[in-house]
Amino acid sequence: MGKRVVIVGAGAGGASAAAEAKRRDPSLEIAMIEQRSQVSVAA
Ligand SMILES: Cc1cc2nc3c(=O)[nH]c(=O)nc-3n(C[C@H](O)[C@H](O)[C@H](O)COP(=O)(O)OP(=O)(O)OC[C@H]3O[C@@H](n4cnc5c(N)ncnc54)[C@H](O)[C@@H]3O)c2cc1C
Repeated sequence: MGKRVVIVGAGAGGASAAAEAKRRDPSLEIAMIEQRSQVSVAA
């Protein structure tokens, strides 16, 4: 099983963190958890 990353918050910071993590290791499995029903428009 590959590495998994969980990002809390799907705002601009969360989206940037997900993109950077994927750039560094494309095999990562990334999950983003957002408390609202929609992700931020800034993301
Ligand atoms: C009224 C307003 C207008 C703006 N207009 C612009 C603009 O025109 N252009 C621009 O570049 N910037 C604008 N900004 C700034 C921009 O919104 C922020 O700089 C940017 O959203 C910050 O991103 P962030 O990921 O750090 O935080 P946030 O966008 O706040 O994202 C954090 C996310 O984490 C979630 N979260 C928090 N705690 C939890 C938890 N425990 N579990 C799950 N999810 C959680 C929140 O729901 C949120 O979605 C504006 C800001 C405001 C308030």
